[in-house]
Amino acid sequence: MKILVINSGSSSLKFKVYNMPEEKMLCSGLIERIGEKTSRLIYKKEDLELIHEESIESHEKGLTIAVRFLMNKEYGVISSAKDIMTVGHRVVHGGRDFFDTVEIDEKVKFDIERLFSLAPLHNPANLTGIEVAEQLFPHAKQIAVFDTSFHQTMPEKAYLYALPKDMSEKYAIRNYGFHGTSHKYVSEIAQKMLNKKDSKIISLHLGNGCSVTAIENGKSLDHSLGFGPATGLIMGTRSGDIDHSILPFISKQYGISIDEIEDILNKKSGMLGLTGKTDMRDIVDAAEQGNKDCQLALSMNAYRIQKYIGAYTAAMNGLDALIFTAGIGENSAYIRNEVCKNMTYLGIEIDEFKNNRKIVSPVDISNSVSKVRIFVIPTNEELEIAKQSYNTMTN
Ligand code: ADP
Repeated sequence: MKILVINSGSSSLKFKVYNMPEEKMLCSGLIERIGEKTSRLIYKKEDLELIHEESIESHEKGLTIAVRFLMNKEYGVISSAKDIMTVGHRVVHGGRDFFDTVEIDEKVKFDIERLFSLAPLHNPANLTGIEVAEQLFPHAKQIAVFDTSFHQTMPEKAYLYALPKDMSEKYAIRNYGFHGTSHKYVSEIAQKMLNKKDSKIISLHLGNGCSVTAIENGKSLDHSLGFGPATGLIMGTRSGDIDHSILPFISKQYGISIDEIEDILNKKSGMLGLTGKTDMRDIVDAAEQGNKDCQLALSMNAYRIQKYIGAYTAAMNGLDALIFTAGIGENSAYIRNEVCKNMTYLGIEIDEFKNNRKIVSPVDISNSVSKVRIFVIPTNEELEIAKQSYNTMTN
């Protein structure tokens, strides 16, 4: 069965076609800068990479061009739109309603729209992707895979905030969690690597957005992002945890509104606010050349991660494995080393040689005396969406 996976953002759309259940990726593509004059589509199949530059004013036009590439006789992967039997969509927010992956119908679309206020940047773009795919692949089943679903197993004591009860209830204010598709994918691989019935795992998704999840016996128990994607770890441009008393203080000092403060916390803080840079490679390079701001920002970053590891180890009363994943987690030996330094009390000990090797597939980088296994596991959210879509269609 050929499954098309779509991750539709506000100005970009990523797609991949998989053959399932073989889990073989047939091609991938990215349509970027939708709505701008400089938009383009990048299409990849095995070693072939094609770049098509054209003004793409809408998601519909972008996906229409993508379908032309998919059906191309020379480098395409399907002969007609009917070859795609299932389209799996990434949907960021599933609110309280979606515990699992679902087939999309009018009610599901209505509910995704109802959740716009909780994910104003993501859910509208996700819904656009669904509507465009329905037009272009009318024979296919459309499936929604929610980033929040994996975290629906968190207990009340973990997901509730200590706000007035009626306020939380009325507006469904709680920790919903994000990056669930990634945490699920890597933690399932880690469970197989541990080969143990009961498992206590901490998964560190360190990309532009960063989050930690405590996962006990395969279920999310606690998670560092929350109602929105801004709490917890220090991220590329987001502050992570911050004392909320700072918000009214800044508002009064600068005479700015709550929307402007939110913009600062989401887009101008984190590593960018501390160093003027967002790319972790540039920050590590600058720190190694003696840049004091970058050195401090990196130690703040690692320290915050260590605090979460301590907290979640306490929450689970133990730890079997730590997982590093996503752009930074998979590629930065420097960050992995900083995080695992001075963690011997918790039984975390890294093997520097293994850590410094280039990592392309799941690997254990702990040393021979480490009580906790330290895994680096490349994430693959699209494959997880394809797997869940396939399971929903066949079960
Ligand atoms: P997104 O959350 O957008 O999916 P990614 O998972 O692709 O992000 O991660 C992007 C981050 O990964 C960037 O901060 C980038 O600097 C970092 N990164 C990528 N490669 C490396 C590397 N070799 N060393 C350190 N950081 C890296």
